[in-house]
Amino acid sequence: MKIVVTAGPTREHLDPVRFLSNPSTGKMGFAIASEAARRGHKVILVSGPTTLPTPKGVKRVDIISAREMLSAVKLAKGELLIGVAAVADWRPKTCAKVKMKKRTMPETIKLVRNPDILKSVKGVKKIGFAAETGNAIKEAARKCREKGLEFVVANDITKRGAGFGTDTNKVAFVFPDGRVKAFPLMTKQKVAEKILDEITRI
Ligand code: C5P
Repeated sequence: MKIVVTAGPTREHLDPVRFLSNPSTGKMGFAIASEAARRGHKVILVSGPTTLPTPKGVKRVDIISAREMLSAVKLAKGELLIGVAAVADWRPKTCAKVKMKKRTMPETIKLVRNPDILKSVKGVKKIGFAAETGNAIKEAARKCREKGLEFVVANDITKRGAGFGTDTNKVAFVFPDGRVKAFPLMTKQKVAEKILDEITRI
């Protein structure tokens, strides 16, 4: 199967040296891409800025912003899209061509909404992630229905050993019909294996 995985953060620049972003390291997405390739899938990894090496057998496309990520995902034309990236929901309305001066920098920045990549891509099977700070399951079920996903991998990032930058994660798969499969704390590698096992069932 041709699988497209999004990973890492996006950066939304307000000038050439300043941006809005988040602490995503790309570890979870890279683990999924790596495991999918190991199982013989054709994998395209659309990644925001990370320091991780490209997994073996994976085609990697590097992007910076959410809009670039969306274009790359559309170009890749996968049969299955796994959205692991921590996409910035907002971007500055304008990006200055040259570095803004401290003295003249505006005190407020106008933001506009970024496109929702998972929501925008239609006609393919999709799996999403939901990093929440409490009420993870309820939020994930809503997301699943809203974005037309097969299932959502929900994690409560307030839990120890789960979330940004860690090597482990505590997740639950939440299905559109409200079914939940919860897992104990495990490595991101193991989570990737569980996700790929589940894919054989959708
Ligand atoms: O709505 P929320 O951002 O919590 O949803 C998270 C899921 O949606 C993740 O799978 C993420 O990769 C995806 N997403 C996206 N485009 C956005 C925001 C989130 O594809 N602009």
